[in-house]
Amino acid sequence: MSGSTQSSDTPATPAFSFHRYAVGDATIVAVFDGRNPIPLADGFVPNASRADVSAALAAAGGDPDIVPITFTPIVIENGSRRIVIDTGTGEANVEASGGKSGWFQTNLTAAGIDRREIDTVIISHFHGDHINGLLTRDGHRAFPNAEILVPQAEWDFWMDDARMAATPNDRAKAAFANARRVFDQLNRQVTPYAWNKEVAPGITAVGTPGHTPGHTSFRASFGGETVFIQSDVTNLPALFARHPHWQAAFDYDGEMAVATRLRIYRELAAAGTRVQGFHYPFPGLARLEKLADGFNAIPVSA
Ligand SMILES: [Zn+2]
Repeated sequence: MSGSTQSSDTPATPAFSFHRYAVGDATIVAVFDGRNPIPLADGFVPNASRADVSAALAAAGGDPDIVPITFTPIVIENGSRRIVIDTGTGEANVEASGGKSGWFQTNLTAAGIDRREIDTVIISHFHGDHINGLLTRDGHRAFPNAEILVPQAEWDFWMDDARMAATPNDRAKAAFANARRVFDQLNRQVTPYAWNKEVAPGITAVGTPGHTPGHTSFRASFGGETVFIQSDVTNLPALFARHPHWQAAFDYDGEMAVATRLRIYRELAAAGTRVQGFHYPFPGLARLEKLADGFNAIPVSA
């Protein structure tokens, strides 16, 4: 089931809002936070030419000068449990982005889900598009009754004051500051989790570092079926699945991100496992096909 919502007192509204599909006896709800079409900058893929990146965007049917970055958090409905994985760019971003993104809460309501019913929020990594939605527009808890689970390795890295002081990179400095802004509002009341363990029934945390040091994906298995929630193992698949050796400018360790991607995508393609991607085109569900020199992420609806 899919739906969309319109409201006259907001700057703009997204074209799609949510999409439900079954994984065994559980349901995944992909909830649209928005899409930010960013102009292709030189150096966006540091180890490929701008012409090659443009050609890949065009080959996927898009504008050769625009990188369309989609944000899709999900909810897992499993029995009485309501679990959010990643939270989008945050309600305050509706105004800040001119209505392009920040719609997670609006679309959660459209999907018939009350944020007060969310019992668990699982964070994959600490970039703003994944954690900013932990807060409401006025800086309160967006999920007042939820335990917030964060990767231990991510917490150890981004909340380390000495590391923050030592970082020479402006983008990383801003990410350190933003993690403090968000988690301080929550009085740092989070539960760190380890890799290779269940973080909730049926949901196992899988370490996929590179994009960030503690970047985490999730294997979600219910009633004999599985979906792999990859988080940001690749950003836009037309670029980084099709060309898995390409690094992204915002990867913490581009070489490690490539190694992780190749390892995980070979496994997923061989097993035929469905993949849910936070930055895939909405609703973010695909199956991977192995090519001679990369992977196709073939969109599927269920
Ligand atoms: Zn992201």
